[in-house]
Amino acid sequence: MTAIVVVEDEPDIGDLLALYCRREGWTVHLSTDGPTGLEAIRAREPDFVILDVGLPGEMNGFDVCRELRQTSDVPVLFLTARDDEVDRILGLEMGADDYVTKPFSPREIVARIKAVLRRGRAESAPTRRVFGPLVIDLQRLEATLDGRAVALASQEWALLEALVEHQGMALSRQQLLDIAWGADWIGDPRTVDVHVRQLRRKLGPDLPLATLRGVGYRLG
Ligand code: CA
Repeated sequence: MTAIVVVEDEPDIGDLLALYCRREGWTVHLSTDGPTGLEAIRAREPDFVILDVGLPGEMNGFDVCRELRQTSDVPVLFLTARDDEVDRILGLEMGADDYVTKPFSPREIVARIKAVLRRGRAESAPTRRVFGPLVIDLQRLEATLDGRAVALASQEWALLEALVEHQGMALSRQQLLDIAWGADWIGDPRTVDVHVRQLRRKLGPDLPLATLRGVGYRLG
């Protein structure tokens, strides 16, 4: 059974995350500060950690992650409230697998956890794609263009990941939605077009993403 530890000091957010994770059938342990969070992670050895950056007391989320990384490679998703925190996550070797900025939708978090867990299970699959100056690293959740990090929103990542994992295959909008957002996601397939536009804008012309009229999209 998938076990999650959530370290978050705001009770509303912690409870909401716990609720959504339990709905997936995952067990959830909630800690509200750095030291007890670290202790819980070490004791429980969870499959996944959700870690708020802004924790009360001496130890913030970065400190927890740094400590944790001495002994564990458990996937960590940071919750951040501020852009400068995002810069630190992207800029430093913080050892995070992913991050989400507040406010976020819990569904999005669940989708991202599933994506990271899936990646963990598919370890043998190559996770890095190079398209000229554009490098997409699915393992590290990192896209760089001419060596500079490109910040992608979580749904953009989910879509990009779906495209990369099915490189060379034509995918309909509905297929992309099912893969990227999960089959239980209810929404307009045109959402895919919106995110494709964002990906093209952010990643530039080296992303070999073709629009197939009347069909959908194909990468490569
Ligand atoms: Ca906080």
